[in-house]
Amino acid sequence: MCGSTSPSPSAVSNPHPSSLAASVSLDTLRQHYDAVFLTYGASLDRPLGIPGEDTLLNVLSARTFVSWYNGHPYHSGLLSPPSLDLSKLDHATVIGQGNVALDVARILVKGVDALKPFDVPEPVLAALAQSRIRHVDIVGRRGPLQLAATTKELREMLNLPGVALATSSDDAALLDAAAAQVDAHPAMDGARAKKRALGLLRAGSKTLAADAARTWSLRFLRSPLELLPAGGDGAGAAAHAPGALEGITHPQGVGAVRYAHNELVSSSSSSGSDPSHASARATSTTSTSATSLVFKSVGYRSIGLPGVPFDERRGTVRNDGQGRVVAREGGEHVSGLYTSGWLARGPTGVVATTMFDAFAAADVVAGDLVAARAAGGGFAVEERPPLDARALEGSSGRRVVSWEDWEVIDRVERERGQALGKLREKVTSVDEMLALLH
Ligand code: NAP
Repeated sequence: MCGSTSPSPSAVSNPHPSSLAASVSLDTLRQHYDAVFLTYGASLDRPLGIPGEDTLLNVLSARTFVSWYNGHPYHSGLLSPPSLDLSKLDHATVIGQGNVALDVARILVKGVDALKPFDVPEPVLAALAQSRIRHVDIVGRRGPLQLAATTKELREMLNLPGVALATSSDDAALLDAAAAQVDAHPAMDGARAKKRALGLLRAGSKTLAADAARTWSLRFLRSPLELLPAGGDGAGAAAHAPGALEGITHPQGVGAVRYAHNELVSSSSSSGSDPSHASARATSTTSTSATSLVFKSVGYRSIGLPGVPFDERRGTVRNDGQGRVVAREGGEHVSGLYTSGWLARGPTGVVATTMFDAFAAADVVAGDLVAARAAGGGFAVEERPPLDARALEGSSGRRVVSWEDWEVIDRVERERGQALGKLREKVTSVDEMLALLH
């Protein structure tokens, strides 16, 4: 989509331009519709900002990996050589301890047989079947009380057959100390959920590490300082991360992560006395841990659109908290423009949270429509013809995909899945999707 007014600083074009996509400007949409909803989510990763992140092989964003195993067409080639070869890697590290980090770890340790009945594409299952990953470290900069992952997802990990949580004595002591803190501060934010999660983690997984095919760990109070290439000292790592040029001329795989060990300090906010809001502060202690694959899973970020008010700090379209886009904080509604979901609120919350946002925002639009009509102005649906898809096809030379078209693709995916004894087999190329519609 492109607009005619000045771009916001973070406004960038689609990060995955497709030769098959046609652009419709926001101005064009607004000419045809009384209300336009911006709900395109958060499609960028937050970077770590450390050496080696962009210059070493086998360092990737959790978002890319999640897109790959979900069959997203733009990422379906991720594990085609020479990108990433799971058959040559044995240890993965996920930076960040949210639910996305857990999703990545679960796919790596779960085992292909358990994934087969669902909708994981066959090429992904084939790559995972070759994987030699045996252990996944999930690393957080803060402690167990600040774990972003939720109880349900932790429980699922702990119950995976043949998979064990391996907890070091240091991290077990941190879990114990966190449980004592919840008991000492029963009014802390989310105390009950934290107590449940800590109880589960202290009890550990059903499978013991010694009997497990694969293991995972939650490691606390560590911030990555640098990613180091494989093949140097005894820990399997060279002394420094390659620079940009070296990364191109001598591509090397990641071999280790150097961490700063952190301590927790009270946050400066009004909730400073609540230990669950403590911040991480680096100490002078550092350590290096060998690994062969690193995932960055420290959150997502939305893209701004040219001409749409964007809050750079929060990474959201500026809005009044109810879905109306506003030009500035506390300012006037940009008539006819609405937003919802992660683009409106930031990248937090589960699917249900986003659904309820959408229901509430739809109510707001309906209310605005009724109010505008009562006032005798504003919305005038009947005077605006909807965008003519056929005319758009003619002018862009592209195929417009309708809801009915989507249903055709959906049916094919289900039929292919049924033939394979699974929920669905996804079509992972846009060309093939379009070919199904002719
Ligand atoms: P998240 O929940 O915000 O977790 C981000 C993690 O990255 C936190 O552990 C955070 O630590 C850490 N982090 C942030 N910046 C960092 C840095 N510079 N260095 C080191 N660590 C850093 O984000 P997410 O995992 O991407 O998930 C996004 C949302 O989707 C969440 O609301 C999540 O619950 C939801 N989701 C739900 C499901 C599900 O329901 N199954 C699945 C996937 C995602 P701090 O806490 O210290 O900032």
